[in-house]
Amino acid sequence: MYIDLLTDSGTSAMSDRQWAGMMLGDEAYAGSRNYYNLEAAVHEHYGYKHLIPTHQGRGAEHLLSQLCIKPGDSVPGNMYFTTTRHHQEAAGGAFVDVIIDEAHDPASEHPFKGNVDLDKMRRLIEEVGTVRFPYLSLETNVNMAGGQPSSMENIRDVCALCHEHGIPVYLDATRAIENAWFIKQREPGFADRSIKSILLEICSHTDGCTMSAKKDSLVNIGGFLAVNDDGLAERARNLVVVYEGLHTYGGLAGRDMEAMAIGIAESVQEDHIRARIGQVEYLGEQLLEAGVPIVRPIGGHGIFVDAARFLPHIPRAHFPAQSLAAALYVDSGVRSMERGGVSAGRDPKTGENFFPSLELIRLTIPRRVYTQAHMDVVAESVIELYQHPDRVNGLEMIYESEHLRFFQARFRSVAPVTVGDVSGAPTAVKQTQS
Ligand SMILES: *Cc1c(COP(=O)(O)O)cnc(C)c1O
Repeated sequence: MYIDLLTDSGTSAMSDRQWAGMMLGDEAYAGSRNYYNLEAAVHEHYGYKHLIPTHQGRGAEHLLSQLCIKPGDSVPGNMYFTTTRHHQEAAGGAFVDVIIDEAHDPASEHPFKGNVDLDKMRRLIEEVGTVRFPYLSLETNVNMAGGQPSSMENIRDVCALCHEHGIPVYLDATRAIENAWFIKQREPGFADRSIKSILLEICSHTDGCTMSAKKDSLVNIGGFLAVNDDGLAERARNLVVVYEGLHTYGGLAGRDMEAMAIGIAESVQEDHIRARIGQVEYLGEQLLEAGVPIVRPIGGHGIFVDAARFLPHIPRAHFPAQSLAAALYVDSGVRSMERGGVSAGRDPKTGENFFPSLELIRLTIPRRVYTQAHMDVVAESVIELYQHPDRVNGLEMIYESEHLRFFQARFRSVAPVTVGDVSGAPTAVKQTQS
């Protein structure tokens, strides 16, 4: 592995201050002082009243889903995220996509492709009523759409609409700071505001959040659930003991909570976030210049290459994005991540493959790890393949795990298809799990 762009999750470099914090771990089973430092940091930066730490983001998603979703409920969200949807479905809910249509179009230049479509939301409220509607799951800087932000105006309006109908809004705040950066750049009235104050305002419209601190918060492990509702917090504190650990550590060591508290304060620093997103742009600009089809506008945490356009000779059933990820690795030792049909999995009811409109690979940039020279190597390899798409073969899936298959699936190369074979029509792939 030469350059590892699989994910920016837990792969960022911690600062000297965070490492110093690791030496101050208070490993008391109950009431570690690091918990109180973390509580203060979350309160200061995210504003919510109650903190329940968890080992990572999905731990918080699990708690929220189990506590709020009943079988038969609909859970709307602005595009799905893999683990989020999994926990919603495991609790008996059905995910409903309410993101604006532009988010599904890689070429659309809409500045806020993470926005919720208010009309879709209104129609859903009319159809479903508010009884079978536990909450709106609102993701900031939508990962699967390419790291695309929501505007403050949209967050404010959609929260007002939900609250009018008594529906709470829970934020997936994993990338809220990257979202705050784009609000500052693109939304009128925010240019002179600090990232810290924009983040607080985003959160102030909502009722709580789940958080994977492995992203924005610059730690290798950690996450939390934060809510304002006293009753829900009480129930979450009770449930976290069953799945993660006592409510003052939630599956984390004291030192991990200290590093997270310090990471949260660093994550809103303007220099940091400018350099972080600037590096993503640096890579994206090179690919755009060479004509490589990528999701636009350039997102916050990585470059998303449109594999369907990159490899038009590979039908969806042979997983163009997974095929491109494999070819890139063979070419240059650069590891990327499939975000297309493999990640989307199957419809839990029919067992059929989902084939989402976006068939992408993600070149995800860890924070504070690589130099611009590394980005040059990545660009060179992607451009090389783009100029020789015939070097890339389709894949067939030979092993598929039952849950979140993209993490563990295995593939085999299929013979190159001839142009006449290209149907693009999804055909079912045989399930090989035992
Ligand atoms: C990573 C991520 C999660 C899940 O968090 P983990 O820490 O990996 O469990 C949830 N939502 C989004 C948007 C993410 O990027």
